[in-house]
Amino acid sequence: MDLTRLAKAHIAALTPYEPGKPIDELERELGIPEAVKLASNENPLGPSPRAVAAMRDALNGVHRYPDGKSYHLRSALASRLGVAPEQLVFGSGSDEILELLAKTFLGEGDEVVFPWPSFAMYPIVTQGMGATPVAVPLDAAFEHDLEAMAKAVTPRTRLVMLCTPNNPTGASIGAAALDAFLDALPDDVIAVVDEAYFEYVQRPDRADALAWVARRPGTMVLRTFSKAYGLAGQRIGYGVADAELVGLVERARHPFNVNLLGEVAALAALDDTEHLERSVRCNTEGMAWLRRELGALGMEVAPSDANFVLVKSGEGVFQGLLERGVIVRPMAGFGLPDYIRITVGTESENRRLVDALRELRGDGGA
Ligand SMILES: *Cc1c(COP(=O)(O)O)cnc(C)c1O
Repeated sequence: MDLTRLAKAHIAALTPYEPGKPIDELERELGIPEAVKLASNENPLGPSPRAVAAMRDALNGVHRYPDGKSYHLRSALASRLGVAPEQLVFGSGSDEILELLAKTFLGEGDEVVFPWPSFAMYPIVTQGMGATPVAVPLDAAFEHDLEAMAKAVTPRTRLVMLCTPNNPTGASIGAAALDAFLDALPDDVIAVVDEAYFEYVQRPDRADALAWVARRPGTMVLRTFSKAYGLAGQRIGYGVADAELVGLVERARHPFNVNLLGEVAALAALDDTEHLERSVRCNTEGMAWLRRELGALGMEVAPSDANFVLVKSGEGVFQGLLERGVIVRPMAGFGLPDYIRITVGTESENRRLVDALRELRGDGGA
């Protein structure tokens, strides 16, 4: 029996998302005892100790279903962001919100405009609904080509994705550019501004995507607890939008999509501003050090406003690093075979990486 023939053609044709290699897997495969993972933009300092304590306190209650409305987290976050509680939708990571948006708005013949290279889930959720991905190449500086993206919008366009800072390249969109783009975008196109790395942004003219939620009803801002908040394993992210847009997306949501410990952890993490500040500082310092060291090795490093850097390393470096117990992200799948993406780690992790790169170059770690 040909099972593939039974599947919907657009699902069977999908190229599955390729996650960063788990540390365990590398250790098993190569027998390397202490591998370092700088591949998935996780917070190297770990979760807030307050989030861990809150989860521990909640453990004995996991025989209950979670609160499907995430009441406590919703209230805290709404007041933090200055929006109404009904302007928030929670997901099992912001990945799930992307999927809910696709489920709500996309069908065959619909188009989704997004930058490329960018987050791999954009084409996946688009094709998953049988809709058509319209990938607009980044410009030569690895920044969104907003002019080309505006031109790519047609009467069939349902969603436009912006990713700022952009994963995997790192550049963010400035205030003036974002404002001009959203201002000119037709009203009947949903604009999704994916701000997964929002907390790390340092540029002085940082864009205020959230302000557009009030100004333009068809706008959704995506944020997550997976990156700076250090809760990737708990799977919790959210969307902020006009209440009507949230109401539509909510119809596509499973009632218990956010797990109980995830909600508890996110609520506690939100309160721990000290841990967040420490995490951002660790990133800023680590980033500066990495840029210097990689530059000294003669590698081109793209400007980044996030917690990772895109590096022109030459081909084969991903594999060489793996063999030395350092996991980074290969970029061949994005059409950039001689690049790798490196997540900024702790001081010692960053040093491991640079030592391994030096060894690969034959400098013997001198
Ligand atoms: C990591 C990431 C996300 C979402 O991650 P979740 O863990 O699903 O919240 C969304 N967008 C981009 C660009 C990311 O890098």
